[in-house]
Amino acid sequence: MKKKELQIKLQELEGFESPKAELEQYRTPPDLASSVLWNIYLNGEIEGKEVYDLGCGTGTLGIGAKLLGAEEVVCVDIDKEAIDIARKNADKAGVEVKFKKTDVRDVEGEGDLVIQNPPFGSQKRGSDRPFLEKSLEIAPVVYSFHMSETDEFVREYVRSCGGKVVSSEELNFPLSKTMPWHEKEEENIRVRFYRLERS
Ligand code: SAH
Repeated sequence: MKKKELQIKLQELEGFESPKAELEQYRTPPDLASSVLWNIYLNGEIEGKEVYDLGCGTGTLGIGAKLLGAEEVVCVDIDKEAIDIARKNADKAGVEVKFKKTDVRDVEGEGDLVIQNPPFGSQKRGSDRPFLEKSLEIAPVVYSFHMSETDEFVREYVRSCGGKVVSSEELNFPLSKTMPWHEKEEENIRVRFYRLERS
């Protein structure tokens, strides 16, 4: 799989049909997803590995990881409608992925890597916390998206979960108009992509 092929495959997947604001359902844009996944792949952290996608939504990150040769991918989301779309997307992409419809807090399991774009906590304060906590329980290495303005909080919270921020980069996250209060058709929000490890 080449980077361009991955990008095209992810572009073909469906997004949320009627995104739920309270669950902060925003899809990672396929171009951004393929570019971060590709870098993780080049680091040797996807091929042959067991990968979890927590808060998978319509499955973009998990399916992308499977396309790049992950041994096993487990996609978790609390929302049945999202999982239903993600299942169809996996079929469309021609990959086998495991799905769990559950609250992230109740996930049991261990893997090599978590890749997640969880809620940012902007609708419901603290909704990003169980993702940080659980991801570090599941795997020794975690890649996670968060809003730049919560950087200080993320760092502190990761420490309190027994983890550390190894690196992070700021990214432009193009957010299309999906919620009634979005004023512009598309807006760039400032998001940081973190690499976390257990301390
Ligand atoms: N990771 C996807 C979707 C991001 S939106 C992508 O990158 O495209 C965040 C997702 O987290 C939504 O699908 C939402 O349903 C899910 N979610 C929110 N709270 C959750 C919880 N407590 N447990 C599991 N999933 C949750």
